[in-house]
Amino acid sequence: MTPFLARGRILVVDDDAATRSNALAALRAVGFVSIEACAGSEALEKYASQQPDIVLLDLLMPRLEGFEVARRLHCLPRGQRIPIIIMTGPEDSDAIERAYQVGAIDFVAKPINWMVLRHRIQHALRSARTLDELVRSETNLANAQRIAHLGSWEWHLREAYVQRSEQFFALFGEGPQAFPPVMEAVLERVFPQDRDLVREAYTAASKGRAFRIQYRIVRNDGALRTVFEQAEPVRNADGSVQRLQGTTQDVTERVDAEKRIRYLAYYDSLTGLPGRQFCRDLLKRAIRRASTERSIAVMVLDLDRFGRINESLGQGVGDQVLQVVAQRLEKTVAALPGHADSAPGAAVVARIGGDQFVVFVENALVGDSPEALALRLLEAVREPILFEDIQVALRASIGLAVYPAHTDDADTLLKFADMALSESKRGQRNSVRSFSDELRTAADLRVQLESEMRAALERGEFELFYQPVVRISDHKIDAVEALVRWRHPKRGLLGPGEFIPLAEECGLIVEIGEWGLRQACKQMAEWMRKAYPPAAVAVNISGISFRHVRLLSAVQQALTDAGLAPERLELEMTESVLMHDAEMTQGILSVLQRMGVRLMVDDFGTGYSSLAYLKRFPIDVLKIDRSFVKDLVYDNSDAAITSAVLAMAQELGLGVIAEGVENEAQLLALASRGCDLMQGFYFTKPLPADELAVWFEGGGWHPLDG
Ligand code: C2E
Ligand code: MG
Ligand code: MG
Repeated sequence: MTPFLARGRILVVDDDAATRSNALAALRAVGFVSIEACAGSEALEKYASQQPDIVLLDLLMPRLEGFEVARRLHCLPRGQRIPIIIMTGPEDSDAIERAYQVGAIDFVAKPINWMVLRHRIQHALRSARTLDELVRSETNLANAQRIAHLGSWEWHLREAYVQRSEQFFALFGEGPQAFPPVMEAVLERVFPQDRDLVREAYTAASKGRAFRIQYRIVRNDGALRTVFEQAEPVRNADGSVQRLQGTTQDVTERVDAEKRIRYLAYYDSLTGLPGRQFCRDLLKRAIRRASTERSIAVMVLDLDRFGRINESLGQGVGDQVLQVVAQRLEKTVAALPGHADSAPGAAVVARIGGDQFVVFVENALVGDSPEALALRLLEAVREPILFEDIQVALRASIGLAVYPAHTDDADTLLKFADMALSESKRGQRNSVRSFSDELRTAADLRVQLESEMRAALERGEFELFYQPVVRISDHKIDAVEALVRWRHPKRGLLGPGEFIPLAEECGLIVEIGEWGLRQACKQMAEWMRKAYPPAAVAVNISGISFRHVRLLSAVQQALTDAGLAPERLELEMTESVLMHDAEMTQGILSVLQRMGVRLMVDDFGTGYSSLAYLKRFPIDVLKIDRSFVKDLVYDNSDAAITSAVLAMAQELGLGVIAEGVENEAQLLALASRGCDLMQGFYFTKPLPADELAVWFEGGGWHPLDG
């Protein structure tokens, strides 16, 4: 006897006390817990209060007879599946028939053979347990299916009949009665555009083939949902397909989430345009589609000095400007002659970075040349943007590359267009530049120069030349400016103009600058040891170095390493470098000032900037750009500017150095306006340190030299 059976609770219902006590004795002996009831009504009460596992029921009882008790038991909560065994008189076949009809599972004839009955009870309990488990697992499955929005079905192919789970109907928001048991019933509910796909899958499935499809359905309430459906054949022993077993799952939420993720990954959230990655994909697709006789113009557009808008008007305005630009580019492309009936992806506007856009268009759409389109795009961007009280004027530059003329690779096309863009920005800006072989050569050269420059730093090919600043009143050397040179093994001595811009572009300027600082400080320390005249050495600091995190420590380190006092070092920054981010500039300058180094504005007058910052920034000296000095003698306005700068500097207590003094006339003109510090070829060209030492030893500059 299994432990389960020993725990069984049995309700014995009989009006005959003798039968009850016999039953009790026989059943208890083998471990059953038995509950007694002497009438139908008591049986119902005890059932409710004690929840037996099985009922042994006498058919013939006064008042409430067994049939009625069985019927009522089945109506009680949890009573539908209670196993009932009927006790009848012998050969009462009518009664037996009725007993089955009211849901009894078995019967025993009186007088009862208790031995046999025990086995029947065992069997009945075991079946009941199996049924319970089945029901429970079905309920679990149904719950799981409900939670997963998963309906299941079986398609009996030969009978052309489909059996579906409740959850399946729930997916469609309908009851089973509205859903004929055939596959076609689904087709009617499929979103029209997806119908062919579904029909095809079902046709294949009707021949016993498995399928996995995703399609949209229109629910009863009109909602559009996406379902994922898969089915597999179930085969007979001979291998023939008996039926198809399938599931249909509502995956709308998942698909929506995926769409959203894809959108976030593929689209720029500010403008709604495709982002960089998606732009590449689209271009690749366009190239795959375009046969070689169709060409594609790829344009990279960059707003000129967009950073200024962000800085001066705030990021909010900056964002709006970008949105307007996006719309204008799209509008211009949409207005192309062939656009209306072009294939999707034949013309694309994308945003690939802060203020950079890509437009690519199949040439068939363009009408005229890609250059003309590029110019039209520039024009669209140039149109002033009106906000409530401000008007923003934009300029942009475009780099253009063409498939397949320049290359047939998407990434290379974008790179070429970008190279052309850099060229356009290097030049006059606000213009269109097309990729060309010369550009490729120039770019190759730049790449070569860049790698050579890295090596040059290690090989010590950089040198500093020095140019003195002379004080006219006493002919003494005031300071010396360090100017970098590259002694290129093949190309000879290169001036900064030939490599500094590239060094700035590739970031190498930071290392070159740090090297220059160290070298200049060392040189200055040596001059001091030799008691040579200059009181300080001036070092030029590029914009990138100025804003680099390492600037302050590099300056400090160079001074410490050389054992040089900070007032022996001067730093020259151009106006445009200082004007870039006034807040940050002020911070950096104050720290440098506190360190004790002198600060100078280089090429003063060439950048366009407000003079207010001169008061705000801790500046010591202005260096008047040589372009003003050049025509000082002949050009009245240059003379006026120089006079004004000198007067203003005096007012603000700033020193002034005039750069590029080449002759005595310039010297005299400057001196007569009160300028005392000068630098230029008139005194000496920049010289290597050893040659300058000779110059120092020769007494430096003397008026008679001129
Ligand atoms: P800058 O700082 O304004 O330097 C003065 C430039 O004018 C030097 O050109 C110098 O040779 C030149 N010059 C001096 N006197 C005269 C003259 O009488 N007439 C003419 N026509 N030119 C004169 P250089 O050495 O070619 O340097 C050009 C620019 O490169 C410098 O302008 C400076 O901005 C930058 N630079 C030079 N060395 C460095 C450096 O070590 N680091 C950084 N970041 N920039 C440097
Ligand atoms: Mg300078
Ligand atoms: Mg200068």
